[in-house]
Amino acid sequence: MSHVFPRHTKATYPIAEKGDGCYIIDRDGKKYFDGSGGAAVSCLGHSDPDVTNAIKTQVDRLAFAHTGFFSTEPAEELADLLIAHAPGGLDRVYFVSGGSEAMEAALKLARQYFLEKGETSRHRVIARRQSYHGNTLGALATGGNQWRREPFSPLMIDTTHISPCYEYRGRLEGETAFDYGQRIANELETEIQRLGPENVMAFVAEPVVGATAGAVPPVDGYFKRIREICDQYGILLILDEVMCGMGRTGTLFACDQDGIAPDILCIAKGLGAGYQPIGAMLCTSQIYGAIESGSGFFQHGHTYIGHPVACAASLAVLKKLTGGVADQVEPLGVKLQAALQDAFGQHAHVGDIRGRGLFRGIELVEDRGSKTPFDPKRGLHKAVKKAAFEAGLICYPMGGTIDGVTGDHILVAPPFIMNDTQIGEVVSKLDQALTAAL
Ligand code: PLP
Repeated sequence: MSHVFPRHTKATYPIAEKGDGCYIIDRDGKKYFDGSGGAAVSCLGHSDPDVTNAIKTQVDRLAFAHTGFFSTEPAEELADLLIAHAPGGLDRVYFVSGGSEAMEAALKLARQYFLEKGETSRHRVIARRQSYHGNTLGALATGGNQWRREPFSPLMIDTTHISPCYEYRGRLEGETAFDYGQRIANELETEIQRLGPENVMAFVAEPVVGATAGAVPPVDGYFKRIREICDQYGILLILDEVMCGMGRTGTLFACDQDGIAPDILCIAKGLGAGYQPIGAMLCTSQIYGAIESGSGFFQHGHTYIGHPVACAASLAVLKKLTGGVADQVEPLGVKLQAALQDAFGQHAHVGDIRGRGLFRGIELVEDRGSKTPFDPKRGLHKAVKKAAFEAGLICYPMGGTIDGVTGDHILVAPPFIMNDTQIGEVVSKLDQALTAAL
């Protein structure tokens, strides 16, 4: 009997024993193509020698030094390299151990920023209904996924949620994509006015929505309008690129494609590529400066922030991504989208195939014309996940209710080192899984 506490207590899991490029091999020798990078984590696959060597070298040199006493070379170098590539204005990096921690740090930094400025009433967070920002309480309260929030709602900070930018279901007949984006973005202004601008601290969004929706990109102009509204009301824009950042969508940061820069940016997953647990919060010099010239102390912290081994692994990852690997994402993504479109574009139960780069989503529907989803009781996404796993493909099917519509979707987020043949492998295994599940 296992003493490990699994997420699904009734499930039994194979023991993952070895990583080999894009594959995970279990103890019985079965090989699985990692078509979702875990959950958009393993961007370099599972056996990158540059990253594993960087880890070994750092462990031998220095395994840990507390940030209350020291900074370390890998943390300094990693911060420099991140800032060299980050959207304009971002200037400081705070390293944590994952995505939820990055979000918690972002929320606290936003609050402290306004306290330092004397704008003490600013504490309200606005986010979007179609979002996931992590499982710690602040991050969970920020996310809009009802099913995840529900049991813990008495423990949560007060956040409000506006509509997601979800063109497939939200755009009205006859409305252009641009006009749709402006209309939806303007909900932010309405909500700010309802809450009172003097009370609002931040708007939080994933540039390309991941786990709750299956790679939903914004329409052109949406984030520019969001940025304008935030600036107009002096509200911080926090972008959560925990899943869609680090080259996943074809540019190192997803928001680069929307022509905007946030005040605070959260990254994780691809930052350590699964070799080490690491996340980061980046902020502007304006925010950092308010604390530096104010109290001089960010009132936050965890034991493992800036962990040198995690930073060394991440530095090796980032050098590879910026040294050419991330450039492969866009062309591979175009091929993956074309292959998905060829295989499922006319499928009776595929409503939408979308995404950017190697971050693709397939939305499953009972009826394409009316976009009617499958009955949630059927648990289609679970059946797809199981059938794909049996076929030797790890993908990330999810289901849930967004704006009253319950849907099933599949997230595909393979490693950036995949090749054309493996695109074919992913699509044919997905096909097998859909045939078995439907
Ligand atoms: N934000 C987004 C967009 C995510 O997708 C996730 C995890 O899936 C998180 C935050 C939380 O990250 P972690 O699971 O590393 O705490």
